[in-house]
Amino acid sequence: MKKLFIKTYGCQMNVYDSARIADLLMPLGYAAADAPDDADIVVLNTCHIREKAAEKVYSELGRLRRLKEQKAEQGSRMLIAVAGCVAQAEGDEIVRRQNAVDIVVGPQALHRIPEMIARAERHEGRVLETDFVPDEKFDSLPAVRAEGPAAFLTIQEGCDKFCTFCVVPYTRGAEFSRPVAQIEMEAQRLVEHGVREITLLGQNVNAYRGAGSDKSVWGLARLLRALAQIEGLKRLRYTTSHPCDMSDDLIDAHRDLQQLMPFLHLPVQSGSDRVLEAMNRHHTRDHYLRLVEKIRAARNDIALSSDFVVGFPGETDEDFEETMALVREVKYAQAFSFKYSARPGTPAAAARKQVPENVKSERLQALQFLLGEQQVEFAKSCEGRSMQVLFEGRGRKSGQAVGRSPYLQPVHVDHAEDLIGGIHDVTIARALPNSLSGTLLRTAQPEAAAAN
Ligand code: SF4
Repeated sequence: MKKLFIKTYGCQMNVYDSARIADLLMPLGYAAADAPDDADIVVLNTCHIREKAAEKVYSELGRLRRLKEQKAEQGSRMLIAVAGCVAQAEGDEIVRRQNAVDIVVGPQALHRIPEMIARAERHEGRVLETDFVPDEKFDSLPAVRAEGPAAFLTIQEGCDKFCTFCVVPYTRGAEFSRPVAQIEMEAQRLVEHGVREITLLGQNVNAYRGAGSDKSVWGLARLLRALAQIEGLKRLRYTTSHPCDMSDDLIDAHRDLQQLMPFLHLPVQSGSDRVLEAMNRHHTRDHYLRLVEKIRAARNDIALSSDFVVGFPGETDEDFEETMALVREVKYAQAFSFKYSARPGTPAAAARKQVPENVKSERLQALQFLLGEQQVEFAKSCEGRSMQVLFEGRGRKSGQAVGRSPYLQPVHVDHAEDLIGGIHDVTIARALPNSLSGTLLRTAQPEAAAAN
């Protein structure tokens, strides 16, 4: 049997794509390897969002080249493939800089990997595919496999927003939404295989505009309402959203659908209108705050998370203070924050007023301190509350199970190992630094546990 090792960088959409690569190669006799040393093919599924992403990939490729050479000396062959957004953005450069790479495949051409491997094995030279053909991709991927009670399902790819700091519109292409019937079928299949929670994924997921079976175009709210009808599907989430696509009917869906978890990732990036405009975000601070108000009015137990970019070109102390004030006003349960770093080819990279590195670091530290305090505060507010936890796997201690709260926090519960796969009521006893611990209250949904 051949062995496959995939190293995944970046977001949940890459995690989903890596699982699909494994699904594609399984029928060809590839099983998962624990490390690159045991693998016949190593795939780096790359992300281009974070700082020095491409350089990290090149240094990993240097290590893999040495491993490939050692294996060749011992008479065995190892293929190296680079997939994902760095492959899309820098395909030719990868081929030029690292001759150990056999395959370069962009995110929209993943379905062609088996054929590309066959060509590489036939020594047809290096194989490069970076076309944008998302409909062909989803039509050609095999049926998704469930691994545990929670699953991701990609419903949308690409982005038309062109925020000036972001590479996604260049690496993932224009917005594309999968047809409703395809998504319903995939969701149904996941539920039949024990999945209780599905997170719908998309770079700009709430811009979903998919073809419905009735020939009309469905938005995300309608899709969520349809998926909520699937028996056995207890929880729905979606990520990542743009404030401009947070429509009233989507907010109403949060009010109406119990399956839709009360946790929303709604990136604002900055609290300053001047910076938001320079970022080409198409929304203002006030628009965002009004949106938060509306969402909270529709569902008062909802918790929010966000992304922040600190030190965007031209950001002044006053701009940064507006971000801090917005955070104090919204009160986030969780958030991701990063220093701005230039992405080649994006408009902001060419801006003249770059913020000095030490200023960015100071601002980031201040923001993360505040966000950290809010996260602890939110976790503490969960103490003593009873909430439903979807148990996903074993904990570190014998008999312990780990699950997710409605707010995505990991929850540890002793003597619950036999409940993995089901949703159960838990009383939260203690907020730990990055998780919660609780005790089992009673079996909330015996049929869910029995079904697993
Ligand atoms: S909306 Fe998100 S994915 Fe699209 S360009 Fe802006 S940051 Fe990038």
